[in-house]
Amino acid sequence: MEPKMYDAEPNRNPADASLAFQTWKIGDVTVTKVVELVTTLDVQNMFEMATKEEVIAIPWLQPHFATPEGQIYLSIHGLVVDTPTKRIMVDTCIGNDKSRAMAVMDNLQTSFLRDLEAGGFKRESFDVVLCTHLHVDHVGWNTMLENGKWVPTFPNARYLLNRTEVKHWGHGGAGAAEDSEWGEVQRATYDDSVQPIFDAGLVDLVDGAHDVCPEVSLVPTVGHSPGHASVRIRSGGQEALITGDMTHHPSQLVHLNWGLGLDYDPAQATRTRGDVFSQAADRSVLVIGTHWAGATAGRIVRDGQVYRLVV
Ligand SMILES: [Zn+2]
Repeated sequence: MEPKMYDAEPNRNPADASLAFQTWKIGDVTVTKVVELVTTLDVQNMFEMATKEEVIAIPWLQPHFATPEGQIYLSIHGLVVDTPTKRIMVDTCIGNDKSRAMAVMDNLQTSFLRDLEAGGFKRESFDVVLCTHLHVDHVGWNTMLENGKWVPTFPNARYLLNRTEVKHWGHGGAGAAEDSEWGEVQRATYDDSVQPIFDAGLVDLVDGAHDVCPEVSLVPTVGHSPGHASVRIRSGGQEALITGDMTHHPSQLVHLNWGLGLDYDPAQATRTRGDVFSQAADRSVLVIGTHWAGATAGRIVRDGQVYRLVV
């Protein structure tokens, strides 16, 4: 990824500097987006096989997800899920003060935690933290730097982590052994953002499908990573799905095979997208994209052999 710009305080309304969180209601559940940063990328920096001409040829991507010139937007945000009984954080972004081999993520100093707390979401008030998978941009705010030590950011939460992900990215795992810049980033990530949560005794390991509370459950959506899960919300006859990284950008509704070079199992990732998009179209699910910028959420409808997002 080669981002073109950082949005330094992306949750602020530039007109008056007040907080401007996006929210969605699913029955009795409220989901709030808290942005860490938004970047603009050449599409082939995310999907090697893609071209800007193909992005321009999907008119509905503008203005939320792509520029008229065929560049794409990528958002990194956490999603606060408030149910009648639980406050849940879904994915914890990159985090501040983390030393990373990839420059775009190295030693960030964003206002994410300040914004979260200013919005009324005190870090002590969270009951559960869900990580859809253990990549660097989904576990960062699991911890924060305090007096030179990594401590849990959400001290009263149980952190639900997938057992397969922990095995793969933890010490001795196949992912942790990768001899590459990516492997180095993931080893550092595990050490400063996952291991301290184990050390604090706050981890509950889960396998595949898992009910978090009556309204929220984890749904396996593997491919991008070996134990990847998405988050299903059902309340009052309505349904939403927080994607995690089973999709990174709405252009994949048209090009299901567009994937990241670092996908664990690219063919499975493509099959997973087909399955999830098809079910979402059939059931009119509100799909909330973990990296989708702008409107971030919408309904998937069939468009010939492929799909389209209606925001
Ligand atoms: Zn990601």
